[in-house]
Amino acid sequence: MTSEKEAYLVGVDVGGTSVKLGLFSEDGRLLEKWENPTRLGENGALMFEDIAGSVMEMCKRRGLTRSQLRGIGLGVPGVVDARGHIERCVNLGVSDCVPADELGRHFPGTPIRCGNDANLAALGEAWRGAGRGVDHVVMITLGTGVGGGIVTNGKLLTGFQGMAGEIGHMAVEPMETRLCTCGGRGCLEQYASATGIVRLMRDALEESDAPSLLRGKDSFSCKDVFAACADGDVLAKAAVTKAVRYLAVAMQHIAQIVDPERILIGGGVSRAGDELMRPLRRRFRELMKLQSKIPQVRLAQLGNDAGIYGAARLAKESENS
Ligand SMILES: [Zn+2]
Repeated sequence: MTSEKEAYLVGVDVGGTSVKLGLFSEDGRLLEKWENPTRLGENGALMFEDIAGSVMEMCKRRGLTRSQLRGIGLGVPGVVDARGHIERCVNLGVSDCVPADELGRHFPGTPIRCGNDANLAALGEAWRGAGRGVDHVVMITLGTGVGGGIVTNGKLLTGFQGMAGEIGHMAVEPMETRLCTCGGRGCLEQYASATGIVRLMRDALEESDAPSLLRGKDSFSCKDVFAACADGDVLAKAAVTKAVRYLAVAMQHIAQIVDPERILIGGGVSRAGDELMRPLRRRFRELMKLQSKIPQVRLAQLGNDAGIYGAARLAKESENS
């Protein structure tokens, strides 16, 4: 139960279809989490109204006073600059918006901070997940796309316009002819995302006559590619090896620049577990020549909750600002 004297943090992960919310103790224990559908429209006004109503309802139910709410953090699927301003977020249908101000209307006096969801997932993992106890953490999220976040000296690196940690769009293949969703060519996302790995597998099937468990299938998933790889499928292994090589190159570049102690791998693709992590660690070690201590490479731990943890951690930071 929540105690009268204690202070609490709320972490909110706002997505295009649902809003995840979590109530946390100040030291980062998740006390309760819940989820609501996202109501789009009116440049986010309906969505912020719903979030405010949901948080107030929770406070009322738990007998929490306004002063016990130490801060609210928001993660959104878009670029958020240092002032908390979003120029445009297609998924949420908002433009020229400062979410902290919008939500702040409902919570006068309560510190509210907003950040990019992938960045906040990294902050969440660094705070209470696989990066716990370490000050320099990089997280790479391998999902439909590739996202990421950099935590250095325990703080999130956002950059001057909120674009830091866009690991998915690091160019790792200068000879690529196909376009990335960003308009560039040869981005990490084109190889190491779930869609990228499926595409590498399709290429492998096209370029070779070798037998494969996936040959002749109309459609298959990234999970199927890893399963085939585990079953000794030569072409699936080639596709995974290619993805791993690009990912390891990106990790080497990141390590060279920010010198993390730990690199975390999360997102749906990371469910492949050892089938991904074993070759990835091996290849990464081969590339790291300069450092005496090679960053540890670990699986992320918090899954879909990383975002609410990170949002709560961001809210905690606002205590001192
Ligand atoms: Zn790109």
